[in-house]
Amino acid sequence: MRAAVQAVRVASELCTSAQGRLATGDTLTKGDDSPVTVADFAAQAVVCATLTDQLGAVELVGEEQSSDLADRGELRDGVVALVRGQRGDEVDADTVIDWISVGHSDGSGDRYWTLDPIDGTKGFLRGDQYAIALALIESGEVVLGVLGCPNLPNPDGSRGAVFVAAQGSCEVYYSNPDSPISAAVATPATLAEARVCESVESGHSNHDHSALITQRLGIRAEPYRIDSQCKYGAVARGDASIYLRLPTRADYREKIWDHAAGKFVVEQAGGRVTDVDGMPLDFSHGRRLEHNRGVVATDGRFHDEVVAAVQHVLSNP
Ligand code: AMP
Ligand code: MG
Repeated sequence: MRAAVQAVRVASELCTSAQGRLATGDTLTKGDDSPVTVADFAAQAVVCATLTDQLGAVELVGEEQSSDLADRGELRDGVVALVRGQRGDEVDADTVIDWISVGHSDGSGDRYWTLDPIDGTKGFLRGDQYAIALALIESGEVVLGVLGCPNLPNPDGSRGAVFVAAQGSCEVYYSNPDSPISAAVATPATLAEARVCESVESGHSNHDHSALITQRLGIRAEPYRIDSQCKYGAVARGDASIYLRLPTRADYREKIWDHAAGKFVVEQAGGRVTDVDGMPLDFSHGRRLEHNRGVVATDGRFHDEVVAAVQHVLSNP
């Protein structure tokens, strides 16, 4: 846990210093049409370097592939510059590529980490919310989750939160790195008073369906749209009590790094997380959640009612 928290803190610092300062040549569109920036690669490099420093060789399923930097000198130089900002000027490009490549495991082992170095890259580029999400998976079960949310506005007026979940506990750190507070989900008196959070991007979660579901549940509040696994953080500390991620395409499979840390954070804060069919998220099939579709996360108490409304709307859209 100490190694994971340190790794996420270092990556959070790197991302905070890079956000808003990227140049045109610092971003690339990947094969799946999603954006990636120099900061995504650099954050993966420093997380892998920190874990390796502390724990020796690790198995890690990371979102980024160092092959995406091949033949892209300008982008690679930008990545190296950011990593040097955290690790010192003596770090060379080959070392940075080796660190990123630590994250190339396929998730077939019995025990591995999974990392989204910048979850919500679109939010990061807009100057909004994003997260650094790191989880440890053993025999298909998440056993540790650390979620860095460097831009998240906190109830105490500060900005930036780190959620740390281990079996039986979920703590959140605000400005003081030595004194966490315990995170717990909030249950409104009635479902109608619940607040729903969802993706900013209608291409990642169907907004029309969520409007029908909230209407069916009698929920009056406007949805809280926020990028990245900050949504799981929001549910874990009671800013919202429902997170809906509703499929936009039948063939899309969620990636393990987009959910492992966040779902464990919500569960250890007392909430419940399933897919839209009410099935547990199954992390035992490599890089993707092959047998799940979408996500429903709640405070727990209203979970079955929410899933029933989701089922109704998805089968009678
Ligand atoms: P969010 O910030 O909640 O919009 O989620 C960002 C994540 O959405 C990215 O890390 C992508 O991996 C993922 N994503 C990309 N396309 C889709 C899609 N069609 N459905 C669901 N998630 C997607
Ligand atoms: Mg992501």
